[in-house]
Amino acid sequence: MDAPECERPAFGKMGYGCKHYKRRCKIRAPCCNEIYGCRHCHNEAANSLPNPADHHDIVRHDVKQVVCLVCDTEQLAGQICTNCGVNMGEYFCNICKFYDDDIGKQQFHCDDCGICRVGGRENFFHCKKCGSCYSIALRDNHMCVENSMRHHCPICYEYLFDSLQDTTVMKCGHTMHSDCYKEMIKRDKYCCPICSKSVIDMSITWKRIDEEIEATAMPDDYRNRKVWILCNDCNDTTEVNFHIIGQKCRHCNSYNTRTIAPPVLPQ
Ligand SMILES: [Zn+2]
Ligand SMILES: [Zn+2]
Ligand SMILES: [Zn+2]
Ligand SMILES: [Zn+2]
Ligand SMILES: [Zn+2]
Ligand SMILES: [Zn+2]
Ligand SMILES: [Zn+2]
Ligand SMILES: [Zn+2]
Repeated sequence: MDAPECERPAFGKMGYGCKHYKRRCKIRAPCCNEIYGCRHCHNEAANSLPNPADHHDIVRHDVKQVVCLVCDTEQLAGQICTNCGVNMGEYFCNICKFYDDDIGKQQFHCDDCGICRVGGRENFFHCKKCGSCYSIALRDNHMCVENSMRHHCPICYEYLFDSLQDTTVMKCGHTMHSDCYKEMIKRDKYCCPICSKSVIDMSITWKRIDEEIEATAMPDDYRNRKVWILCNDCNDTTEVNFHIIGQKCRHCNSYNTRTIAPPVLPQ
């Protein structure tokens, strides 16, 4: 039985696409020569193949052919179907062969990144040193780390560069998903999982530890025990008094330190 007229998807609008994008075409994956809804549909399928050796991601710039979902015609990628004339996607990038009707995402193509991003071109700038687009709030206001987005999120291991989720740039310049970052802070972890530097201003916490140490006398046996520490925040190594609560860096006052073997002095 046919669905009543009113329940049919409106022609040319949000009624077509896959679970990732609303649009009126599928893509032919050049790597396996199969038709998929979008590159995510392809990657999900290709990376759940039984043989791990077959797992692969599509190279989006290699996509040449698309199939119109309205008239089923396969053709070279373009915005308008050459057969039925339908607009296959309100947003169309001819470099990425990317289509999306939901232009509320404010897609734009960054030539330096070589991919389409969301969030509005005016809200981002491309940092050449980091090799990625960052929010304009970070212009002249972040630590540059070469290719800092070309790695996997240290919490959930998704590749960050073309991740669809927001990312956070920490004080040290390393990056992770904003949601993963919030989750980490919620669990009282305040150092970067990559370099161990403190990710927020910890001076109030360090003061509190100062007071705690002041109030906690160490037993006689330990009172004069010394240890060498490496400061995760400033990389300084110093010899300090051992304390059960923590070892404070004499250089930058941080307690984000670890004990190390004493340096071997030249004989
Ligand atoms: Zn899809
Ligand atoms: Zn068509
Ligand atoms: Zn693009
Ligand atoms: Zn960019
Ligand atoms: Zn940078
Ligand atoms: Zn993550
Ligand atoms: Zn870091
Ligand atoms: Zn320090």
